[in-house]
Amino acid sequence: MDDLNEYTPQPIPEEFHSEYEERPFLTCTRCGETLSDFPEGFQIAKVFRREEVVFEYAICSPCHTSMIDEFSMASRQTLEDYYNANMTPGLGAGSCGICQLPRKDLPQNEFSLGAACVGSQLLEAFMICSSCMEVSNLLVSKQTQGIWNDFIDTNFPGVPEDSMPCPTNVGLF
Ligand SMILES: [Zn+2]
Ligand SMILES: [Zn+2]
Repeated sequence: MDDLNEYTPQPIPEEFHSEYEERPFLTCTRCGETLSDFPEGFQIAKVFRREEVVFEYAICSPCHTSMIDEFSMASRQTLEDYYNANMTPGLGAGSCGICQLPRKDLPQNEFSLGAACVGSQLLEAFMICSSCMEVSNLLVSKQTQGIWNDFIDTNFPGVPEDSMPCPTNVGLF
């Protein structure tokens, strides 16, 4: 997706702050570097179960790139094709980017949020409901799923299997 330029940056809304730290994300979850030091920006992901955040991370651009590079070629291509065909860009965090259901109409209040940010500014945000997440999770290869699980295990010990976001979140920007 290279249509980030269509968006007007705005301050990162509280919804994309760290629940755990009770403030905006300051450092990369993977390498620990200060996020605002990266001119290419960083990404935020949060997974909600009902009113609760069950998972969250912020990852700098170099870490993001190196993680995507580890995904198999086939998975990357599959994901890209899937998003090109199914994802409606520009909906923001209010509706599912795939099935377009508004957040308030979701059958269960379960969804994940993603955001692309630079410094203290939000460039683009999206929401994917839990059923669409499940579908896109099935698209990636076992190997790619394994790389993702390793990332989770290394960085988030103790996160229950079923509360993980999908690797597809990572591939969105
Ligand atoms: Zn990093
Ligand atoms: Zn959906």
